[in-house]
Amino acid sequence: MKLLFDVEGKVNYDKINKNTTVKDVLDAVDIFLNNNPLDCNECEESCCKKSWSVEMDNVCVNKLSNWNDEVALEFVQKNLVKKKNYYRDFDQYVLNKKIDCNFITETNLCTIYGDRPIICRLYICSPKSYRYNVIRELIGSTYLKALIHEDKMRNNNLTKKTINKYKRNSAVFAKDYNILLEEIFDYAEDEGWLDIDEREELYKEIILKP
Ligand code: SF4
Ligand code: SF4
Repeated sequence: MKLLFDVEGKVNYDKINKNTTVKDVLDAVDIFLNNNPLDCNECEESCCKKSWSVEMDNVCVNKLSNWNDEVALEFVQKNLVKKKNYYRDFDQYVLNKKIDCNFITETNLCTIYGDRPIICRLYICSPKSYRYNVIRELIGSTYLKALIHEDKMRNNNLTKKTINKYKRNSAVFAKDYNILLEEIFDYAEDEGWLDIDEREELYKEIILKP
């Protein structure tokens, strides 16, 4: 699987299949950006220095907390705030910041680049296809919701029923971004974020112009 510009000139996958993982998507983004570099050094409107939210996912928080539960709890308390995701109707955590991201330097370097949030890793500032955006958003929402669940699990004595419900999200306490897109789509269907027809569409191979 790779990312390329489709016939409309938008970033798209050539194909995904039932074995494609989130990590495959992230690797494809890195390769795409290597082949189609953005001029970030010259960028006057750095995306990391804008007022929009930096959404934080569980794997990023766990990496920055060295996989220590207490440190993760403190990290969330000190650095993040809850913000409603109106599109998907759930509370998510975002970085507590004014305008610039707390991790960007004057010279536009990300100080947590290797551990940066998944939403930053999936960001490409070129025109994107509907399919790219849907998959990006479903992956992001799954990992964002996993952080909310993990935080509650660390803070509370939850019932077994609630814990089992949270664990339907396979990103909960995931060690990395290596879960299958199929699992992301299963969860998205469960949550009512995706219907079966749209799910089938996501697997369609794109036809390139000869
Ligand atoms: S990714 Fe961000 S910093 Fe780089 S060119 Fe695009 S907007 Fe500018
Ligand atoms: S975490 Fe890094 S890549 Fe993401 S917005 Fe902040 S500085 Fe930019």
